[in-house]
Amino acid sequence: MSQDSLIKKRSEVAVKDCWNVEVLYSDLAAWEQDFALWGRPGQEPRYPELDPSHFNLHSIADVKKILDLQTQIERRLDLLGTYAHLRHDEDVAADPAKKAYMLASGAGHAFREETSWIEPALLQLPQEFLEKLLEAKELEEYHISLKRIVRLKPHTLPASEEQILALAGRALQTSPRAFRSLNDADMRFPSCKDSKGNLHELTHGTYGLYLKNTDRELRKEAFIHLHETFGLYENTLCELIEGNVQRAFFYAKARKYSSSLEAALYPSEINTSVYSSLIQTAREGLSSLHEYLELRKKKLNYSDLHLYDLFVPLVEEVEIKMSYEEAVQVILESVEILGSEYVSILRKGLLEDRWVDRYENKKKRSGAYSSGCYDSMPYILMNYQGTLQDVMTLTHEAGHSMHSYLSRKHQPYQDSSYSIFVAEVASTFHEELLFQTLMKKAKSKEEKAYLINQKIDAIRSTFFRQVLFAEFELTIHEWVQKGVPLTPALLKEKYLELNKVYYGDVLDLDPCAAFEWSRIPHFYSNFYVYQYATGISAATALSSLVLQGAKEAKEKYLEFLSSGSSLGPLAVLKRAGIDMTTSFPVQSLLEYFQKLKNELKEYLEGGAE
Ligand SMILES: [Zn+2]
Repeated sequence: MSQDSLIKKRSEVAVKDCWNVEVLYSDLAAWEQDFALWGRPGQEPRYPELDPSHFNLHSIADVKKILDLQTQIERRLDLLGTYAHLRHDEDVAADPAKKAYMLASGAGHAFREETSWIEPALLQLPQEFLEKLLEAKELEEYHISLKRIVRLKPHTLPASEEQILALAGRALQTSPRAFRSLNDADMRFPSCKDSKGNLHELTHGTYGLYLKNTDRELRKEAFIHLHETFGLYENTLCELIEGNVQRAFFYAKARKYSSSLEAALYPSEINTSVYSSLIQTAREGLSSLHEYLELRKKKLNYSDLHLYDLFVPLVEEVEIKMSYEEAVQVILESVEILGSEYVSILRKGLLEDRWVDRYENKKKRSGAYSSGCYDSMPYILMNYQGTLQDVMTLTHEAGHSMHSYLSRKHQPYQDSSYSIFVAEVASTFHEELLFQTLMKKAKSKEEKAYLINQKIDAIRSTFFRQVLFAEFELTIHEWVQKGVPLTPALLKEKYLELNKVYYGDVLDLDPCAAFEWSRIPHFYSNFYVYQYATGISAATALSSLVLQGAKEAKEKYLEFLSSGSSLGPLAVLKRAGIDMTTSFPVQSLLEYFQKLKNELKEYLEGGAE
């Protein structure tokens, strides 16, 4: 029997292994009925009741009326969208679900467009009246979300000027869109030869796999072919990134921010000092990364170490096959420290309430995620096969789901979703707890070494690599703000210089590594990547407080998970015991990395048992 025929069709999968979507709508026909009511396909406009002409925003009663109506429709559209999205991912080839998914996306888009006038209109109200809104008893449930909007008042322009900014919006999107077209569609890479002379197709998808391959020749070819191809377009890519950086600077100046960095961070309530302190503290801890790379070079037994040698595992994966139920048991054991209520919610979700769509079926979406809405379970999509990596993925997604579950349970709809800055904290926290539990259970030296190596490489790529990116990004934005023209030579020189600082002398830098900056899509989402580094720092610091049994650490962590966006991201972490404006969280991640590196060294060199 071929491998493919072993994979079940969606209709053959046992109900207990599927997520419980029937609880939202009994079937697509029931969904369609509700969609006709709330999604209103074919109607133009779809939400005439939200037309500005019906409201006088100078009246508190009318402000409440519009916010109530907006919330009511949005909440229902979220539910309709969640059902369609999940059904679509169960079998991406099934037409009815695909159609529902597209209809739901269309309704969401129309809703956002038809309500896009509300925030700017509120911000045009006189300051005294806005302050009245923030105190009005009738609007109590909206105070927090209104406060988030009112914060933007000093950076909002008069209506006519806002309109000009909006008109320029699409044209200013050209550089990120052109980069995506070049990167995703037009660019072709030459094939790569492995050490036996076999040819392998090189794409964005295969590149990541080849870099983890034990065949060094293949890794090297993939790295060089990919980067040299980007190098062929260096002038175009330089113009594209400059266009993007100029765009950020234009908006920053227009909206009266002191820098592009401030313009990117202010709306999410993050101080720019968080960004600069991240870079400074990370730089102070680079020696432990250099020592790890020395260890890597020694273990791989190479006379020279290259960027394409950093992703291959140092220790072979230990085969441990765990059934889904066994994986849930060990995950529950790992989170016991968070208390019996936490464990029982998670147990029920993973085993009884069917949060999880567990296994692969034909045409199911690949990968894994946690998703849902205020009125649904925090669903998890998995393609669980029982490897250690799968167990890690399951606990990662379960961390997201618990964060969503608790925030939705404790906050009103409008304050329930958490900010991107803290989005990876709960998932990484879960991974750390599982890591500790697996280390305790590990039967052999190899298993422990494998787990530690995984952890170290995760910190290397989620922390050090992203801080390097963040520093490069900050530099080019500052250059443009000072009027320094970006040229291919300048960008290459800076990128190599930063690589030398971050990776140290132990690494041999290939000349084509200078082009790496030009293939990073995240540089077109300004000042995004630093959040990977702050996220893992916050999660590690929080988990160590909880694991060490610090006073009320567990209670404070649970309070963090239950907060949604009722407090800004820095304030909510601070209340949990982590002040991201100080160097402490990053410092403690660096210390942890150092400790792991020493342990790995002992295992690899034969000391530890
Ligand atoms: Zn995640």
